[in-house]
Amino acid sequence: MDKNIAIKNLDEVISKIEKARLDLDDHHIVQLVAVSKYSTSDDIRTLYSAGQRAFGENKVQDLKQKMQELDDLPISWHLIGTIQKNKINNIIDLNPVLIHSLDSFELALEFDKKLKAKNKKMNFLLQINSSYEQSKSGVDPKDAVKIYEQILKECSNINLKGIMTIGANSDDTKQVVQSFQIAKDIFSSLKGATICSMGMSGDFELAISNGANMVRIGSKLFKN
Ligand SMILES: *Cc1c(COP(=O)(O)O)cnc(C)c1O
Repeated sequence: MDKNIAIKNLDEVISKIEKARLDLDDHHIVQLVAVSKYSTSDDIRTLYSAGQRAFGENKVQDLKQKMQELDDLPISWHLIGTIQKNKINNIIDLNPVLIHSLDSFELALEFDKKLKAKNKKMNFLLQINSSYEQSKSGVDPKDAVKIYEQILKECSNINLKGIMTIGANSDDTKQVVQSFQIAKDIFSSLKGATICSMGMSGDFELAISNGANMVRIGSKLFKN
């Protein structure tokens, strides 16, 4: 990716984020995570040089490789993809700044046990399946508050910061909005939760209008 294209893509996305957040409330701040899962380390470097600092990967192996290839840059790395239990030790060793995809109480217990063994703490979001799509990970919205509080209470090495959701995969705006509202309502009812991660290239403005304060954008930032 050419640097001028990276700057243009980033400017376009940031302008749209700005508009959406100001329409909601000028005190509403939105963090941008650039999702680099389909991009090379060279492209990440280019987007970094255009000013982007937070990047997200969905596979542990890719996260590891890109962290190594880019270890000269002070990038904040996020893990956003579904997690297999056998990868937990690897993830703890990589130490991403935030894991968006904690999707069950059992997974939280496993992480907590292994974090305690290594005397570490890490930051997580509880993923909620607010669109009720079978193909998606995440806890059922009706159980989300209970599970969130259970993790807070029983997993002392897990710093739970809020929630993540993926909007409904639909052309019907109403359905997409509904999935964001379900997640936002849960987020608002949680005590101490500060991060509401929702919105991707196709729906981030809708997500922000519905309360997202962290968006995860891939294709719109890395397109040529
Ligand atoms: C791929 C992915 C994104 C970004 O998707 P784009 O449509 O390319 O912006 C965001 N969140 C998750 C969980 C993803 O897997």
